[in-house]
Amino acid sequence: MNTWVTKNNYKVIQVPSGRCNVYLLTNGKTNILIDTSTKSNQKKLLHRLNDLKIQKIDYLILTHVHFDHAANAAAIKEKFGSQIIIHSTGSHLLKTGKAILPRGTNFITKNLVQTIGDKTAHKFNFPACEYDITVDGYFNLEEIGYNLSIIHTPGHSPDSISIIVDNEIAIAGDALFGIFPKSIFPPFADIIQDLIASWGKLLETGCSIFLPSHGLARDRKIVEKIYNKSRLML
Ligand SMILES: [Zn+2]
Ligand SMILES: [Zn+2]
Repeated sequence: MNTWVTKNNYKVIQVPSGRCNVYLLTNGKTNILIDTSTKSNQKKLLHRLNDLKIQKIDYLILTHVHFDHAANAAAIKEKFGSQIIIHSTGSHLLKTGKAILPRGTNFITKNLVQTIGDKTAHKFNFPACEYDITVDGYFNLEEIGYNLSIIHTPGHSPDSISIIVDNEIAIAGDALFGIFPKSIFPPFADIIQDLIASWGKLLETGCSIFLPSHGLARDRKIVEKIYNKSRLML
């Protein structure tokens, strides 16, 4: 299990849960889970949390309401009583458990979505869940003394948010990918221009580590490089 520790001792633990990276943040007092992976990985996720001896999860933040991130939100809320935080534009999807597939960004994924997308989207529907807190522009947990903020980073989906931990680590959901060695470009995104602008926002936070929901951690250098190349398209 990969773990990162910030200067103020916030721990970010990558919880192996199959298809989507799930992260657990803790400062020793407050536990926060980011994303929940797919329905088929529910048992795995709950086992891993059990292995970590996690008895409470105060907040569950969903980077966006796609099926591979939100499918076990209801199960986590039921087991741990977590307060769920999402972006306001994803609220109707979580409340209904409706799966929406994003558009493809390359030849293969574009075709894939066009040919099978709409017909099969309903197969990815997931248990509906009530949320507790919605974020619009900016949100932080200052009131509980937790150095965490949330910024809106749309492009992959309208409701995509990124979580900034202790001004050092950005948990970026699907706003950037870690599965291709020389790129951060997600294979799926609704609006590419918004996505590129979101990379600029992520860099503005000053974070040095960027954790994607799919693949490995990215450093600032590669995010800067791809952003500088891509923003010429804006
Ligand atoms: Zn997604
Ligand atoms: Zn995803």
